[in-house]
Amino acid sequence: MRRITFLVYTVLWILLISLSLYQQVTDTKQYAQKIATRQAEMFFDHIVLIRKWNALHGGVYVPITETTQPNPYLNVPYRDVETTDGKRLTLINPAYMTRQLAEMSGETGIAFHITGFNPVRVENRPDQWEAEALLAFQQGQKSVSGIGIVNGQSFYRYMAPLHVEQSCVACHQQQGYKEGDIRGGISVSIPSASIDAFVNERLEHLTITHAIVAVIGLIVLLLSYLAQARLSQRLDKAKSRMQLAYLDSLTLLPNRRYYDAFVKREWKRALRHQYPISMIMIDIDFFKLYNDNLGHIEGDHCLRQVARTLKRFFRRPGDLIARYGGEEFCVVAACDAEQIMVLAEILRKAVENMRLPHPASKISEFVTISLGVATIVPGDDQSFESLLHCADQALYDAKATGRNRVGKHRNSN
Ligand code: GH3
Ligand code: MG
Ligand code: MG
Repeated sequence: MRRITFLVYTVLWILLISLSLYQQVTDTKQYAQKIATRQAEMFFDHIVLIRKWNALHGGVYVPITETTQPNPYLNVPYRDVETTDGKRLTLINPAYMTRQLAEMSGETGIAFHITGFNPVRVENRPDQWEAEALLAFQQGQKSVSGIGIVNGQSFYRYMAPLHVEQSCVACHQQQGYKEGDIRGGISVSIPSASIDAFVNERLEHLTITHAIVAVIGLIVLLLSYLAQARLSQRLDKAKSRMQLAYLDSLTLLPNRRYYDAFVKREWKRALRHQYPISMIMIDIDFFKLYNDNLGHIEGDHCLRQVARTLKRFFRRPGDLIARYGGEEFCVVAACDAEQIMVLAEILRKAVENMRLPHPASKISEFVTISLGVATIVPGDDQSFESLLHCADQALYDAKATGRNRVGKHRNSN
């Protein structure tokens, strides 16, 4: 893993964890709202149930006390009665009961408010949120819920309409109430703080677990990065050791050891398939004189330049050029005699065209090479040394007949 890949993975991992945390936090908040709404719904249903019970009995009589005074809005005969033992009782209808319960409910933390379009009591007037909910009910909405601010405090709010039922009509007939009408609603407010404590606790857990998972992931990433870095370091070392073993350090061409192994392999393949294998021995002309004349360092430089020029012509996997030793190079190629002669001539010209000055040469102003070429279709009774020997003889011929030329072994087919 490269450093940039490691960084990309790290950023991706952190993004993934952040995304998951964000998703879970959003889910948790929505979930909290659902719970609050459900809680309010149940509370609402409970109030409606109690009202129903009250209406079922046409209201209930309770003793008149300081807190429970007769309902001035209740216009029915026998609103206030006296028991035979002199106790004064007053009739509590559903509305009065709901109001009293609402006043008491504050102590539980959950508040509810009975309201309507035209309430007789000022206290029953809807606030802004409730008024909007009442309008929504008129348009057919079954309930309204959301977060709202009451007296500067945040509440989960829920409101549903109150439908006029058969039992209500008895008292409200003169107000024109009909069964099924929506005359108002009850809003339930649950303080956000009561649920936020749970939400915050859950969010804290989520943050901690995500942080732990993120750190574990980062450690795993880092460890695998370090392990891979160590492995590739070892591989690089092994590679450079291999290169040292098989590369010539001066010219960076394969060395003789590599060449020998390569030729043996190619020889076997040519023997198996019976196709020709060719070799070129290359020798720089009058190189001793070059050294003597220009110095050993210039000699090295010349060797490197010649090697670089020759190397350009070897790209196919079956062909190879190597430094054979001193100022000699050797080529092996899976081609016939005609093709290898063409290649040899190309190499000769390429070196000549470099026009590297060679003041001491007896045949040219520039550095030149002599080449010996041999081709064989391997037989069982031969070894690759015989091919080497033929190429060497051809090189000898090229030297003997004037240098800067290609010599061809006479037995090459
Ligand atoms: P010929 O034309 O017959 O090939 O003559 P030559 O002088 O090229 O051949 P000879 O075998 O007499 O001399 C080869 C010289 O190559 C001798 C040696 O100083 C030089 N030589 C061999 N290896 C290196 C090397 O790595 N660096 C340098 N600078 N010179 C080298
Ligand atoms: Mg030589
Ligand atoms: Mg030479």
